[in-house]
Amino acid sequence: MPRDKSTSVVWLLFDIAALRMSINDVNQDLKEREIVLKQGRRKDNVEDVLKHPLQKVDIDKKEFSKNNNRFERKADKVYRKWPKARPENQDKNLIPMSMAGKSFVEQDEVMNQSKVNLIVNSLVKGTVISIPEKINKTKAVVNSKVENTTTKINKIRDAVNGQTKANLDVKSHSLTKAPPAVQEKTRPPALKENSVKKVHRINDTVVMSHNEVHVDAGLQKNLSNELLKPAESDKPKNIIDNTGKHGNTFNRTKPDIIQKPSGQKAEDPEEEALQVPHSTSVLVRRSGGHHKVMALDATDRPRDPVAVGQFGQPARVPRDKELESRRRWSEGFFNVFLSEQIPIDRAVPDTRPQICSENLVHDNLPSTSVIFCFVDEVWSTLLRSVHSVLNRSPPHLLKEIILVDDCSTKDYLREQLDVYMSQFPKVRIIRLKERQGLIRARMAGAAAATGEVLTFLDSHIECNVGWLEPLLERVYLDRKKVVCPVIEVISDKDMSYMLVDNFQRGIFRWPLVFGWSALPEEYIRKNQIKDSDPIRCPVMAGGLFSIDKSYFYELGAYDPGLDVWGGENMEISFKIWMCGGEIEIIPCSRVGHIFRGDNPYKFPKDRVKTVERNLARVAEVWLDEYKELFYGHGYHHLLDKSVTDIGNLTEQIELRKKLKCKSFKWYLDNVYPDLVAPLVKAEGLIFNAGTRKCLVFQNHNLFLDKCDLTNKSQHFSYTWLRMLRQNTSCLAPQEKQIIMEPCDNTKTHLRWMHKSGKVLTEHVMIEGHSRPICLEAGVKADGIFLKDCDPINTFQKWQFTHYYAE
Ligand code: UDP
Ligand code: MN
Repeated sequence: MPRDKSTSVVWLLFDIAALRMSINDVNQDLKEREIVLKQGRRKDNVEDVLKHPLQKVDIDKKEFSKNNNRFERKADKVYRKWPKARPENQDKNLIPMSMAGKSFVEQDEVMNQSKVNLIVNSLVKGTVISIPEKINKTKAVVNSKVENTTTKINKIRDAVNGQTKANLDVKSHSLTKAPPAVQEKTRPPALKENSVKKVHRINDTVVMSHNEVHVDAGLQKNLSNELLKPAESDKPKNIIDNTGKHGNTFNRTKPDIIQKPSGQKAEDPEEEALQVPHSTSVLVRRSGGHHKVMALDATDRPRDPVAVGQFGQPARVPRDKELESRRRWSEGFFNVFLSEQIPIDRAVPDTRPQICSENLVHDNLPSTSVIFCFVDEVWSTLLRSVHSVLNRSPPHLLKEIILVDDCSTKDYLREQLDVYMSQFPKVRIIRLKERQGLIRARMAGAAAATGEVLTFLDSHIECNVGWLEPLLERVYLDRKKVVCPVIEVISDKDMSYMLVDNFQRGIFRWPLVFGWSALPEEYIRKNQIKDSDPIRCPVMAGGLFSIDKSYFYELGAYDPGLDVWGGENMEISFKIWMCGGEIEIIPCSRVGHIFRGDNPYKFPKDRVKTVERNLARVAEVWLDEYKELFYGHGYHHLLDKSVTDIGNLTEQIELRKKLKCKSFKWYLDNVYPDLVAPLVKAEGLIFNAGTRKCLVFQNHNLFLDKCDLTNKSQHFSYTWLRMLRQNTSCLAPQEKQIIMEPCDNTKTHLRWMHKSGKVLTEHVMIEGHSRPICLEAGVKADGIFLKDCDPINTFQKWQFTHYYAE
């Protein structure tokens, strides 16, 4: 085709300028990714649609001071915004097949926990609590008003040990003695008479032997080694357990529940993946009694109703304190000043869907160890987190609270913390010798745990009323269920407690960016999903969840090669789903969390690089061929091993094999079918506009021929790593010629730009060349060549049969 040379040159100049812009676009993309990663917070490293959908609640504070009781009514009005009359599930005795039988019957291969412990052993310095001399010295400094709680604690211990059967209900909360500056007021009984009785009955048999409530100070000193032993050694030996939970005969992956007839199983796999059970807590038939979820809340009649931030109300900084409040922001990257003004045990509004307080749970739920890992956490938020657990968890289910100090640098987190926590026999502190990062810190906490279930929480949270039992109930029904509370938002600015929209699932977008997405309205309507129904969740947010301890180890815990923060939520989520478990969000369990704009702690290595490296480990182990999508979304550079060393993955890959985990494709098809995940950007024939012929690779030769869809040697794909691939061979420039080379994602010279950027989109251009060089079809000889790019030259324009992504 004749071409006007001068126009061509002008156009080329324009185009080179535009091309620079487009390359800048690509760079800009990468920069944005970097910024995203720098910000890196799970709440805001996501697109708008993925942001945590929260609703701010404004309750008239004066109401509370007039009449505390009115708080509940008011809160009812404000919080229960969900439509009341979602149709109930017609048949209450049935659970949808898709959920009931969803636990995959894979052979349980219990991971050798000693391996995990080996790693953990080397991390832990030992437990530090209750060293009497130290305490006496510093007690006055810490808190001159701390009451002696020994009598109360002993009473409770007696009660839990069955020696004193009376008064378990309310008095047990005196474990969570009021902190300084909080007036204690008498509280009405939190439990109804009959449910209390049930608890007692359970205490006599199961709980009594489960719970060693009191941890002796002397014993504590010698615990460092003990703590690291697998929990097996802590399991009650003389337990009367009519569920047979600890016996080999009972398979908790298959609870004795009545299943929905198979006819009602969702036919569409996409539907099935979303399907949730309907109030299973009241549907399941199982031996053993039930009781209503306990509304334990030691703060439900607040001691000081007009205290700053009480009932989760927004707090305001007085004018004369604004400077101070601003100055102190960076201590925690939230309003540290206000947090200090707010009572350590403030009440928060009960934001659960209404039905939750009526739900039944089993009497004989497993106990849990709550694990808080922290590094340089702000004093007031750490304490508020611990108090919220102590105040709102049934004592017989809370085996212990383990605080894992990941080598904090703040002085107040040492002796002062030891002294403060020594009031609470259930609280144990583990100090790590070196900074390990969140992931390995959690493993250290898990190794020390003696409860049957591990509950991980961030150290700046507030557990809401009734938060624990619904989580443990699900784990009890199926030990392979890993459950998360709804994460509500504690404002970083005014510390108010905000509830989030219902029906949110944790999801990810490429390149493994976590976010939230609501279940489609229509799906909710069609399946009559109630706002209290568990929601199956493709990935968890990561900070807050409960998991059966033995199952956690069966899964090989976390990849200990993950550093500091990031990617661990993806790792554990893929592992759980692909290796036979399930992740659910339990709307009846709600926990507030301060989403911070930045990390108050340092990353020993570069922050961006740490997170990227973690993600690359996850992608390499779990994503199979889909890892190309991960790298192809701005992470090409991670493939250069000379720049990024992601470490050894042999053990993780072995583990996946050993557990006989399913493929990532299975995960996408069955758990997250709504994710768009085309394996390549484009595929089919590559049509040349100038010659109207297609590219062929046959007998080691590349040439053009008449297009023929049935001819396999004309089939190519354009991959996420921008390679033009046929089977295992990829198009490669060689001087002015093109050859086919074995594909290798790490080789940058195999990358071609096509349909990317704003110009020369139909061209196929060598990536990263100083001058734009394009693929051109020979006018006569059916050959292909490399030429300077020419925007109007149709012999340089190529078109794939199918495009799946830009
Ligand atoms: N954390 C830790 N070691 C680290 C990083 C974090 O123990 O190296 C703790 C941190 O104090 C917090 C939890 O891990 O309690 C989760 O971290 P963060 O809150 O920063 O994560 P985010 O909520 O922003 O995802
Ligand atoms: Mn957090």
